[in-house]
Amino acid sequence: MTAPAGIYVHVPFCAVKCPYCDFYSQRYDRQTVQDYTDAVCRNLRALPEGLHADTLYFGGGTPSLLSGEQLLRMTETARETVLLADDAEITLEANPLTVTDAALAAWKAAGINRLSLGIQSVQHDVLRILGRRHTPEQAKAAVKRAQDAGFANLSADLMFGLKIQSADCLADDLNALTALHIPHISAYLLKIEEHTPFAENPPALCDDDAQADRYLQMHRTLTAAGYTHYEISNFAQEGYESRHNCKYWRLHPYYGIGPAAHSCHDGKRFAVPRDLVKFCADARQTEDVTEPEAESFTERVMLGLRLREGIRTDSLPDAERDRLLRRAKPLMPDYLTLTDGRLTMTPQGWLVSNAVLTAIL
Ligand code: SF4
Repeated sequence: MTAPAGIYVHVPFCAVKCPYCDFYSQRYDRQTVQDYTDAVCRNLRALPEGLHADTLYFGGGTPSLLSGEQLLRMTETARETVLLADDAEITLEANPLTVTDAALAAWKAAGINRLSLGIQSVQHDVLRILGRRHTPEQAKAAVKRAQDAGFANLSADLMFGLKIQSADCLADDLNALTALHIPHISAYLLKIEEHTPFAENPPALCDDDAQADRYLQMHRTLTAAGYTHYEISNFAQEGYESRHNCKYWRLHPYYGIGPAAHSCHDGKRFAVPRDLVKFCADARQTEDVTEPEAESFTERVMLGLRLREGIRTDSLPDAERDRLLRRAKPLMPDYLTLTDGRLTMTPQGWLVSNAVLTAIL
């Protein structure tokens, strides 16, 4: 049986561009957002008839800049078009500064039941270097306000890798997030992306050894606090794994709407051009095939090993399984483990995942 699909809506607007970010987004403007909302609804109506979906994810950009009414139109259109499960996970990525009581009530009314908050850190200096506009106090207040409004399913983004992020500094961030009872944490290493202000003027970063130490510190601290390190960059308390994001790693189908959105279904990967004007003007978004063999052996191994559940080796063709296990053996048990036919990467393996994948593929 095919797994239910996920629907991703890329919202390409931000109030201000952060200096490290290369996601496709533009400055918010009222009229363009209205045209964009119309275009998203047109494209939602063009999804395959009878499609079963159990996740809807508004990512960006800063989706929380949309009005409650615009979000409601999109969620209602999705419900009218696809067979959205009653218990569908509906996520909104939100900037802490946009989390007001009125916005929370509107998000609830639109059916949003999971918030992913771009907190990044609760240190003034770190937020300042990252060019984030919120303060630690505002981030914490946003979490409390969301919880008081009944949003239990919260995720926080955390960034690490700046030189000033010592072990103590990271410990403070982790303690603050766990003390706030945020059940899901996505932790990303700061990377300097081309064509961003940081590419021109990079901040001081920690060296490879310090990065590795921080990553393993995060693993130790959060697992001790009751989180499962269920994906290379993600930690969750039981029952709070991101249902939507797991579709990416398990190669379950997902449909992306909006400029720069990606999709994967029917054995192929697709991308919508990074062009908001064209997206708003077209009756239906254009999609380029970026990978005609999305379910190849290599993809399955690369994506599967990002997850703690790993890959079931009996799901692989005999010759490929034998070759994989032969190459994996010298990397066990430090970097890979094989338990009950499941090949998994250890946290030590995730740290050097590119090298491990090169060795086994
Ligand atoms: S990090 Fe988020 S808020 Fe900042 S520019 Fe990128 S998408 Fe926008």
